[in-house]
Amino acid sequence: MSTQVSEMSIQLSDKINQLKASATLAMAAKARELRAEGKDIIGLSLGEPDFNTPDFIKDAAIQAVKDNYNSYTPVDGYVELKDAIITKFKRDNNLKYDRSQIVVSTGAKQSLYNVAQVYLNPGDEVILPCPYWVSYSDIVKLAEGVPVEVKTSIENDFKMTGEQLEKAITPKTKMIWYSSPCNPSGSIYSKEELRALADVLQKYPDIIVVSDEIYEHINYVGDHASMAQFDDMYDRTVTVNGVAKAFAMTGWRIGYIGAPQAIARACNKMQGQVTSGANCIAQRAVITALEAPVSKIQYMVEEFKNRRKLILDLLAEIPGFECNEPEGAFYVFPDVSYYFGKTINDTLVKNASDFSMFLLEHANVATVTGDAFGNGNCIRISYAASTEQIKEALDRIKKAVS
Ligand code: PMP
Ligand code: GLU
Repeated sequence: MSTQVSEMSIQLSDKINQLKASATLAMAAKARELRAEGKDIIGLSLGEPDFNTPDFIKDAAIQAVKDNYNSYTPVDGYVELKDAIITKFKRDNNLKYDRSQIVVSTGAKQSLYNVAQVYLNPGDEVILPCPYWVSYSDIVKLAEGVPVEVKTSIENDFKMTGEQLEKAITPKTKMIWYSSPCNPSGSIYSKEELRALADVLQKYPDIIVVSDEIYEHINYVGDHASMAQFDDMYDRTVTVNGVAKAFAMTGWRIGYIGAPQAIARACNKMQGQVTSGANCIAQRAVITALEAPVSKIQYMVEEFKNRRKLILDLLAEIPGFECNEPEGAFYVFPDVSYYFGKTINDTLVKNASDFSMFLLEHANVATVTGDAFGNGNCIRISYAASTEQIKEALDRIKKAVS
């Protein structure tokens, strides 16, 4: 019997064939591959802090191993973790949730996936202000929903106005998803800007808001506003958060929601059939992370702030990179359409994907095309990298395009 596996005989589902691979993860994999071939690639594609998880969190995990936390966890999270999340929501966001409204998941990505699966029926529309985080549209499509992109402009700091929202709403609109601070634009919705959106939604009581606040603490301008803080929005907002970014815990895979009880219960049921409860050791470590004062992770935010200035200053020296000033997260999202139609280094650049590929091949710098975020004029550059890497990368980009 042949041991060779025939790829030809396997017919995958339409669903998986139609699913796009995550562009951020694909670019990170490509950079890894090129490095393995010996190329000196600087990876500015992945939104991943270059810090290690703080020691006080690692210690909690080691203790959890020693304390024999090794059994299946409750599907929606340990009670102690849910309580730490409840305290965090109250402390940082003045939001009051009870245990029945909290669900802990294997990363905020799973939290978002759950919400789409439990709330959307085929054909339901989800409004996504562009640029949006790369996985939103495919998570919606996996739930047979229809992403409705709302274009925003750099002049308005890539934020959706109430007027734009109103225009995008149809009888099929079921949800609105956005991140603030935003991945990829770094924009932050002020309380007033959220209120303007909430005012429009008063006429549409069945629309649920998914407010992705995973970059909450990576904020360079001050206050963080949550949609659920408005009394009239609380019952129809799902607040998504997680520890990957601010606590440098991307690989630990813990995210969570505070949600209307019916949605939280449904998410619990959903992941009970798919993944069960999130990892036991990671959950114990996250209790310690969330119970700590936010000041304990401030050193990382300060460093990101320095790097933001550095990258904006360096980009300003290169023609054709038009940037908004990001207020949070750790990305810049320059409009590079200046280069479209031009031939640089014998390479014709037609669009943002070509430009991102050009930078990979001619500057050895990995970025992500803006198409993946619903804006084909831009590329995303992550500055969650060391200052040396940022300087070297921007120097290479400058040389490659000149
Ligand atoms: N939302 C946004 C806006 C993100 O950038 C990310 C990146 N990972 C996620 C959700 C998913 O986070 P997690 O790693 O916790 O799944
Ligand atoms: N959220 C990060 C990013 O946007 C991590 C990659 C991912 O989960 O897609 O780069």
